[in-house]
Amino acid sequence: MHAVKYDGDYKLSYMIGIDIDDLLIKDLSGDSVRDEDTGKFSLGRLGESMHTFENTITHELFHAFMDDYNRTGMLGVTKVGDYVFDNNGNLTSDAQRYYKLHLPTWLIEGSASAVENVYQFRSDYFDALRTGPDGKVKDSFAASMIVECYLNGTYDGKPAYFDLANCDASVESNGVGHTASAYVSGYLATLYLADLANIKSTGTSAIILKDNSVDNVSTEKLRMGLNSILERMHKGETLDGIIADISPANSSGKKLYGDTADFQKKFIKGTPTELPSGVLEYAAEGDEGSSNFVMDYLNYLNYVSNLPDRNYKANGSILLPVDVDTGSPINSTKQASSEYYKITESNKVVPSTVPDSVAFAGGGKSNPGDSARAMSSEPDESLAAQPLEQTVQGDGAEAESGNDAAPLTTEGQSPNGEFANEGQSLSDQALENDSGVENAPEPTEEVAQGAKGE
Ligand SMILES: [Zn+2]
Repeated sequence: MHAVKYDGDYKLSYMIGIDIDDLLIKDLSGDSVRDEDTGKFSLGRLGESMHTFENTITHELFHAFMDDYNRTGMLGVTKVGDYVFDNNGNLTSDAQRYYKLHLPTWLIEGSASAVENVYQFRSDYFDALRTGPDGKVKDSFAASMIVECYLNGTYDGKPAYFDLANCDASVESNGVGHTASAYVSGYLATLYLADLANIKSTGTSAIILKDNSVDNVSTEKLRMGLNSILERMHKGETLDGIIADISPANSSGKKLYGDTADFQKKFIKGTPTELPSGVLEYAAEGDEGSSNFVMDYLNYLNYVSNLPDRNYKANGSILLPVDVDTGSPINSTKQASSEYYKITESNKVVPSTVPDSVAFAGGGKSNPGDSARAMSSEPDESLAAQPLEQTVQGDGAEAESGNDAAPLTTEGQSPNGEFANEGQSLSDQALENDSGVENAPEPTEEVAQGAKGE
């Protein structure tokens, strides 16, 4: 993702580079096979590589949707020209303003993870939330164990750092990585917020109880809840304001969550107290609802995963009912096209066609000024970025998410003709549509920026 200057105006421009090598049909010696007539390579459509590709492209496209639909919060600026970074990857405009506007990484990655089959993809991390001190994965998720693992859990013998506070904090710079907090806790926190939004608007939770146990989970309700949060931000509200609005009440009848930081501080966590037995118990401290939601949700996914005759674990994507037995959120037998996102076969970035007046109309995380609309407090012109030489950094892809099999890379080939023609699925069809490279304006001056996206 780049801020590129066309005829004097910056436009946000995109490219998804795809390394399709893992998807090509290979011969016995592992070499890609060319079609005898056309001389082109052929895509295999089966297997784990294709599922990884489909999950990853769904995740990355969701980032792209939010880059246009919730641009203020995604970029942390109110005009594209401020989305410019120096050669060390630091924003050249007002950094404080950026941190007020920019959505927390756990929400960005959590919402993009909510559309992929994340419960399959990261099942080891979910299991780490039900692993006892003896190192054994328990049969089910218990709220107290979730709290304990969230605070002190391990993954692969090392601290897992599930706490949302680790996501944008110094943990990353210490080289620990933020997979657990961004992609797992972020996913669970996003779903919990979606459910709170639902409860606020419809009075009912996506978790459907019967005789005090979970009878079903409505992913349709989770979709509606997340949709309402993103739509409200699109229309100008801030995440802070929405969280305060949908917050449940504490025991004194006051709002439990005042803003994003407050939510981040209280989600799942509690204050440990030592029982007479010496065991530490994590009191819910009023946010018991979040650990109970996570427990109920994960136990239902675990229950579905263990149903007889299944090929896959529960999918974890809010695009599908929980029990759909598939390794991909994309229906490979269906064709669809989108008038909003069309693939351009090009190895250059292509400008977004959404006018800035629309893309930047929404709110980000917090109010940088007094107005409810982030848009209305214009940044200081003197902070506008200076054009730099283009230093394209790696972006896109799940490179840092610990998925070795991910076929997407940032420096990969552009999608080729074989790929587009092979398409029968939603994503392929979207890629197939010709948006007309010739219609895309040519950049007059390319500008450096820290490419974002993961
Ligand atoms: Zn991502």
